[in-house]
Amino acid sequence: MEMWKDLPGRVEINEVGPRDGFQAEDDFIPTDRKVELIDALSRTGVAAIQATSVVHPKAVPQLADAEEVMTRIERAPGVRYTVLVPNLRGAERAVPMHADGWELMLSVTDSHSISNANRSTEDALKGMEPVAALARENGVEAAGSMATALGCPFEGRVPFERVLYVAEAYRAMGVYRISVADTVGVADPRLVHEIMSGLAERLPDVKFGLHLHNTRGMALANVLAALGAGVTEFDSAVGGLGGCPFAPGATGNVSTEDLVHMLDQMGVETGVDLDAMLAVSREAREVVGHPLESAVLRAGKSGELHEAPRAQAFGGPR
Ligand code: ZN
Repeated sequence: MEMWKDLPGRVEINEVGPRDGFQAEDDFIPTDRKVELIDALSRTGVAAIQATSVVHPKAVPQLADAEEVMTRIERAPGVRYTVLVPNLRGAERAVPMHADGWELMLSVTDSHSISNANRSTEDALKGMEPVAALARENGVEAAGSMATALGCPFEGRVPFERVLYVAEAYRAMGVYRISVADTVGVADPRLVHEIMSGLAERLPDVKFGLHLHNTRGMALANVLAALGAGVTEFDSAVGGLGGCPFAPGATGNVSTEDLVHMLDQMGVETGVDLDAMLAVSREAREVVGHPLESAVLRAGKSGELHEAPRAQAFGGPR
């Protein structure tokens, strides 16, 4: 098939487990454990780590220790450390953290934006203008996240024009790195291919990445579709953190080790050491105290061979 020739040779992995994952846990993960996990992730070869969020501690108490986490982690050279910034108040809090990047967060659909942030998408975009300006003043790269771009729990499919409108608004405020999110895990490969190639065609100077949740088992198929559309930046979470396995409709991120495992086998470089990532995944499983969604953590790498069972004589001893 044509598509195999056109796959990118290398992609970047943005590890979001410490933010998207930890915020979804019921119990507060002690700061020591968070710092250990982030430091371990720093040694796996990921390009970036979304370490925490400056969302109001009342809204997300799990990440109330953002300042301490950012102070205590050991920053590895070559890794970009980012924080999620939902509004100007959060941005002001983020300034002294000296992150390499801020990920501005808003929803593409009004109903999700209102339910999540109590304001329309347009108001959220206006609210991001001073945030982008503050990032620039402080020499921090501002990236934009587009939640529900690939499907909304209240509005369903999102028209391409709507996604483009938000991307253009980000670009107008000087944001040239944008993460397109399937927040509730409803996107299919065809939709991903259409939206991602459409965005690349309309805004060629913007770098679009993909943020996938594996809620309905479509995430890796969506990765493949995105590769075919030239996407080279993916968010993922170690172990597939991001959803509660005891709740129906768990909404974990695509697991970093599943993603790296597939890309390794296909010859697409990630720079990530799969064994190191699996070790962090086991550590993460211990820290959260429940099973994780990751398939490779459960089943092992496909290259690992097992000893063949000895043939048993028919009717012989068992
Ligand atoms: Zn997410």
